[in-house]
Amino acid sequence: MSEEIEAKLRGPGAYALARHALAAMEAHAAWPTPVNFELWTYFVGAPDSPLGREIARLLSTGEAFTDLVADELAAAYLPKAKLSEQIRDAGDALTKELDAVSLAIKTAQKSSEAYGDTLAGASRTLTGPAGFDLKAMVDTLISATRQVQQENKLLESRLSESTSQVVKLREHLEQVRREATTDGLTNLANRKAFDEELARACADAVSDGQNLTLALIDIDHFKTFNDTWGHQTGDQVIRYVASVIGRVGAPPRFAARYGGEEFALIFPRERVEQAAAVLEDIREEVGSRMLKRRSTNDDLGAITISAGLAELRGGEGAHGLMERADKALYVSKRSGRNRVSTAEHSVAA
Ligand code: GH3
Ligand code: MG
Ligand code: MG
Repeated sequence: MSEEIEAKLRGPGAYALARHALAAMEAHAAWPTPVNFELWTYFVGAPDSPLGREIARLLSTGEAFTDLVADELAAAYLPKAKLSEQIRDAGDALTKELDAVSLAIKTAQKSSEAYGDTLAGASRTLTGPAGFDLKAMVDTLISATRQVQQENKLLESRLSESTSQVVKLREHLEQVRREATTDGLTNLANRKAFDEELARACADAVSDGQNLTLALIDIDHFKTFNDTWGHQTGDQVIRYVASVIGRVGAPPRFAARYGGEEFALIFPRERVEQAAAVLEDIREEVGSRMLKRRSTNDDLGAITISAGLAELRGGEGAHGLMERADKALYVSKRSGRNRVSTAEHSVAA
């Protein structure tokens, strides 16, 4: 998809697309930062892409398009380019490191070959006619031995330098990978990581013949909460709900922030009844706590969540499972919120 946009930005309609993106940014009071330009180019150039649709959804909620929102969108939808750039850089560094090491090894090999030649020469002299200069020969051997020792030392220090470089690179790559798959606000997995995990979990469930349950969770009346208490306090609440969900979502379960105030929990090898009991506990815990605003100690009251669950059916994929969990969530919302609903499992129903 990003290649398609890239191509559009180098094609005949490029400047029109850029103007269009800029106008949309201005209309929605988004600063013309590089990140925003990239996001809004998607919005106008690929409105049906997941990112285009997410921006449209955000705009429809009337939420301000702040830098924070832009960063979150970029992290969730545009990490691939950045990630592959960083991976490429790390790969380049690794290649350089390996080149340096193999050069050092070659040099060491050459000098040890030369050492071998020197020894062979000495041995020929020893077995040849008498009258050779013993001192000269020993001196030659000593100096050749020193040279090899020196080369070995160089090689050793080059190798240990490389080892620590490689360890650093590995840590860097690990950090890049973590950042690309983690939601910055809650530290739960982000949407991209969730999509990948759900696809993997569905494939595993099918190949192992195991159960798999998915729960979608959405905070109730959150728009009103934000309107009353402000976006920042809203963010604190999102963090709080995430912490409750994260606690029960330890591996092999998988907890993610799916969208703004929406979360997902994957339950590998668990039936829907068992997962529903977990969701009931979460719902009760979240709803029973009286929240306080940290900065002012204002009473914020309690907030509630709604959830929808579905268990993977035979022949169903991640998409179908998501759809049924989402429908169950909608049932929870429609029938009064602050509840957990389960999608019917049997296909006949
Ligand atoms: P419902 O009970 O039907 O879910 O009502 P709702 O108001 O929660 O409706 P909906 O889930 O559609 O609205 C999501 C709202 O959540 C819109 C926006 O104000 C808020 N929101 C989304 N993302 C964030 C975020 O990252 N931080 C904050 N503070 N608010 C967010
Ligand atoms: Mg929502
Ligand atoms: Mg909501």
